Amino acid sequence: MTSAKVEFPELAPKNGILPVPEMNEGISAALTCHPCKVKDMRAIALPTERVPDWQNKAVEKLRELLTKYRSLQVYLDICAQCGACADKCQFYLGTSDPNNMPVARANLLRKVYRYYFKPFERFTGGEAEAFNDQVLQEWYTYFYQCSECRRCAVFCPYGIDTAEITMAAREIMAAIGVATKYVTEVVAKVYERGNNLGIPGPAWIDNCQFLEEELKAETGRDIRMPVDEEGADVLLVMPSADNFANTDTMMAYGKLFYHLGISWTTSTYANEGGNFGLFLNYRNMKKVNKRILDAARQLKVKRVIWGECGHAWRAAIHTDTLSGPMDFLDPPHPVHICQFTADLIKRGAFKIDKSANDDVLVTYHDPCNAARAGSLLEEPREMIRATCNKFIEMPRDTIREKTFCCGAGGGLLTDEIMPIRMAGGRPRAEACRSTGATYLATPCAICKAQLPEVMKHWKVDTRVGGVHDLLSKAMIL
Ligand code: SF4
Ligand code: SF4
Repeated sequence: MTSAKVEFPELAPKNGILPVPEMNEGISAALTCHPCKVKDMRAIALPTERVPDWQNKAVEKLRELLTKYRSLQVYLDICAQCGACADKCQFYLGTSDPNNMPVARANLLRKVYRYYFKPFERFTGGEAEAFNDQVLQEWYTYFYQCSECRRCAVFCPYGIDTAEITMAAREIMAAIGVATKYVTEVVAKVYERGNNLGIPGPAWIDNCQFLEEELKAETGRDIRMPVDEEGADVLLVMPSADNFANTDTMMAYGKLFYHLGISWTTSTYANEGGNFGLFLNYRNMKKVNKRILDAARQLKVKRVIWGECGHAWRAAIHTDTLSGPMDFLDPPHPVHICQFTADLIKRGAFKIDKSANDDVLVTYHDPCNAARAGSLLEEPREMIRATCNKFIEMPRDTIREKTFCCGAGGGLLTDEIMPIRMAGGRPRAEACRSTGATYLATPCAICKAQLPEVMKHWKVDTRVGGVHDLLSKAMIL
C-alpha cells in the first residue's frame, strides 16, 4: 500500500515535548483512508454506496443525534472558539494542518449544524455552510484523522469533547454509505469470524495449542490455553492480536490463571475484546458488545475479564447500557485484567522476583481509551512497580489523563495513512526518548501494533510490550 507523499515540518523537541508548529493549511488533506467495500457494508447493514438524496438524509441523521444526545448539541452551541484546545491534538502537533486542531475539526460539523439548525447565525457572522460534496470530503478526511482520543477535552474549559463530535460525524457518514475500508472490514470480520483479525476458530485453537507448547518449553508446566470450555470461572476477552502477534501477553494470562488455579476460557464466538463499532456507529458498537455477553451466557462462566486493550475497555464500561445488565455474572463487573491482577498482587498472591526485569528500564504509555475514557491509571503502574526495579515516567504533561495517543487509535491503524500515523505518534515517541527507557509497557493491542513502527520511524531505541509480560518474567511459579 502507498501513501500520498507529504512533508510535514521538521520540529526540534525540547525535554521530550514538541513545539507548536506554524500552521500549514491543508497539508494533510491528501491523506485519506481507503473507502469501504460493498461486501463489508452489506455485512454490517449499512448502505453499500452513497445514498440518493444524501444531503437531506445526513441532515436528518444529525437531527436524530441532536435529539438523542443532548451533549452533542451543547458542545456545538457553547464553544467559545477560545483556542485552548488548538495545540493539544497530537495530529495537529505532528502535521501542522489547522484542520487537525480540535476546534477546527469540530467546526467542520458545527458549520453544517448552524446552516440547518441555527439559520439566524448565518446573518450574524457565525460560519455556516450547506452540506455539499466539498464539505463531505473534508469530513471524510479530517474526522478520520482524529483518533477519538479525548485529549482535547481535558484542556477545554467547558469540557467539550471533540471525540464525541467526531463520533457523530462518522455515524452520519455511515448512515449515508460513507465509511472507511479498514473500520468496516474489521467489524464485518467480527460477525463472520468472531474477532478483528478474522482468525477462524480452528486457527485460534491451533495457536492456543502452540502457545501451550511454548509455555511447556519455558516452564516445564502443563499450562493450558483453554478454548470454548463450558463452566469455566472466567471468560477472557482479549484483543485477538494477543493470540497472533502479542503472544507474550497471552502466555502471561495463561501463567497467571495457572498460578492462581482459576479455570478460564476464550470463546471462538467472541474471541475479541476490541470493539470497532465504537469508531463507526452506535448500532454496530452495541451488536459487537452483545456478542461478549452472549458468549458468557453460552459458556456459563461466572465472570468476564477484559484483556489488555484500550478501546475494548472503553466499550466494556458501557456494557450495562449497551447490552443490558451484567447481573448474571459475579460482581464486580466489568473487570479489566490489570485491575484483577493488581488487586491480587496487593493481596500477596504472587511470588515475584523483580530482578528478572533488571535488563530493562521501563516506562509506561497510558492508552488514551484506558486512561481518559476508562480511568485505568493506577493499576498498570502498581503492576510495573511490583514487578520491576527500574521504572521511569514520561514528562508529566504527556501521561495519565494528558497522555498522547499512539497515533493509530480510533480506526486509524491502516497503512494508507502511514504519514498521519507517524506524525500523530511523534509526541509520544519524543516523550519516550527523553526518558532513555528501553521498554515501553502498554496495555493496548493497537498501541502495541503502532508504537514499534513509530519508535522505528523516529529512531527511538525502545521496545514495546505488554504490562502482563513483565509479570510473566518476574513471577515465580
Ligand atoms: S479527540 Fe484526540 S485526535 Fe480527536 S481532535 Fe481531540 S485530541 Fe485530536
Ligand atoms: S477549548 Fe473548548 S471552548 Fe475553547 S475552542 Fe476548544 S472546544 Fe472550543
